[in-house]
Amino acid sequence: MSPAANPVIVGIDLGTTNSLVAVCDERGPRVLKDAAGRGLLPSVVRYIEDGRAQEVGDGARRHAREFPRTTIASVKRLMGRSASDAAADAGYLSYRVVEGPNRMAVVRLGETETGATVSPQEVSAAILRELKARAEAALGASVSRAVVTVPAYFDDAQRQATRDAGRLAGLEVVRTVNEPTAAALAYGVGLRQRTEETIAVYDLGGGTFDVSILRVTPGEPGDASTDFFEVLSTAGDTHLGGDDADHLIVERLSAGLDRAALTPGDAAALKAAAEEMKIALSEKDSVAREVALSTGTVSARITRAELEAMLGPWVEKTLLSCRRALRDAKLTAEQIDRVVLVGGSTRVPLVRQRVEEVFGKPPYTALNPDEVVALGAAVQGAVMSGDVRGMLLLDVIPLSLGIETVGGAVAKVIMRNSNVPARATEMFSTGVDNQTGIKLNIVQGEREMAADCRSLGEFHLRGLPPMPAGIPQVEVEFLVDANGVLNVSAVERRSGQRAGVQVIPSHGLTRDDVDRMEREALTHAKEDMQRHRVVDLIANSRLDLKWIAERLDKVRPHLEPAYMVELEGAAAALRDLVTRAEADWRGVDANAFHRAKEALDKASVRMHEVSIARTLSG
Ligand code: ADP
Ligand code: MG
Repeated sequence: MSPAANPVIVGIDLGTTNSLVAVCDERGPRVLKDAAGRGLLPSVVRYIEDGRAQEVGDGARRHAREFPRTTIASVKRLMGRSASDAAADAGYLSYRVVEGPNRMAVVRLGETETGATVSPQEVSAAILRELKARAEAALGASVSRAVVTVPAYFDDAQRQATRDAGRLAGLEVVRTVNEPTAAALAYGVGLRQRTEETIAVYDLGGGTFDVSILRVTPGEPGDASTDFFEVLSTAGDTHLGGDDADHLIVERLSAGLDRAALTPGDAAALKAAAEEMKIALSEKDSVAREVALSTGTVSARITRAELEAMLGPWVEKTLLSCRRALRDAKLTAEQIDRVVLVGGSTRVPLVRQRVEEVFGKPPYTALNPDEVVALGAAVQGAVMSGDVRGMLLLDVIPLSLGIETVGGAVAKVIMRNSNVPARATEMFSTGVDNQTGIKLNIVQGEREMAADCRSLGEFHLRGLPPMPAGIPQVEVEFLVDANGVLNVSAVERRSGQRAGVQVIPSHGLTRDDVDRMEREALTHAKEDMQRHRVVDLIANSRLDLKWIAERLDKVRPHLEPAYMVELEGAAAALRDLVTRAEADWRGVDANAFHRAKEALDKASVRMHEVSIARTLSG
């Protein structure tokens, strides 16, 4: 055991709605979870009236309606602001905001003037203390330094208040980083920068919307110092976010109810149900819910299309801000090189779709949008403690990337050691008749079978018109950009149906992992090759046998008996090999299998000729 040379610097996203802590080590950035596996900590603190913090996080959030005057949410809105300045925001808060020392905004707990006051710094410190404890438990080491993120528009007083909150929590805030800069850093932007780039960061959270235009300029080669992020413009709305979507759903759920008769508990139940429905609709096309209220039960079904109709104007408002930010930066949408999505609300498919339309390019979505700011703060922490050298920041693709095919083999699309950026396409088809959807599993590794590789993610290409097996033409494109972000898209040529997904192939991989996977591939090379060949032969032979049997049914009376014996003999031989290979892929001779398939191909030529001649003669 030797003491760590560089005490870790964690990254903290101190959010209006949720906060989280992350660390960046040789596995890259990752969020630190609590014992129950939760990463997000609701930024809510419940006090008792004498000013002692009672509960932080989920518990406090659950009690918010019950104790509206002593449960402090969204305190970030008050950080470093004077009472008069914060007055407009105070109207949105359930607790009382009064003037404290130096005219600053503070919270008065409870209803009476005798209630204690707490400063926004103290409330934030309670959240930071919780995150510090969580990080220490997860890392098994004491944590005393952090990079904390702040909105790009925060002024000096607001940044200083954030540092003070850290100090109260026993954390030295070694740097405050702009949230959009952190989001870009999480994607590796700036860390291996060779050319100047312009980035738009679109951040739609629970109660706020921010869009920032950043310019990144390359620093010294090999020096990951991040001083070259410049904020060109910011725009947004401090009262627009996921909460608005929840309210719209609450209105819908409570349409026929007497609102005056609803208790605070009812309101809380409606809001919780609304948020759940909204989140479910980011995945599903329709969701039904029953909510038990003091006056009875309400039930409702909402479809994705209905939600999108409700949210249309809400999304368009954010796009207006995007246009303003572009105008302020004196740029057009085409001049933006990358778009980064941040905030839980960017999981709403309509948001992704509209942002893509406005900027004319697919946005970065590979990382969790509610984690990306904390992850970037952790990257900044690693840069500052010198740890970033251990991170897998590569100019080449360390392990091959491919797609799982019928039978479980891997079709490699991009080979290992290809330079980034890299692009490649490959054609695929279906293995079963009338398949209307295809699951595409993206894998990484050098082994020949998908089960022996690392699955990076999967997606479904849906809505294909029913066609015989082997007929659909699915073009799959792999595109790894300069930051190592992989975009996989699939399009079926006949129907034009498309789908895609984005992942980061190096995420969670260490140098050692790469070396090990390479070694394993070498050890198993011969066996793997045999298996891949046999699995492909089985899939292709099955299709051939099926096509031939179907044709044969139609033209049998027009073929000579001697030829029929030859053809059926070749088919039977191949069928036998398929059966044996399926039972034991090791036991078949792949060369003999291949020859049997060729023999059937050759034998079937005459049948195809007769079949075509008959079709032509009507
Ligand atoms: P903040 O930056 O304000 O702290 P977050 O980035 O954590 O907020 O975003 C919180 C918001 O994201 C909430 O309104 C939550 O309902 C919303 N949200 C989280 N997941 C989803 C999802 N899958 N679909 C839609 N909205 C979501
Ligand atoms: Mg946020």
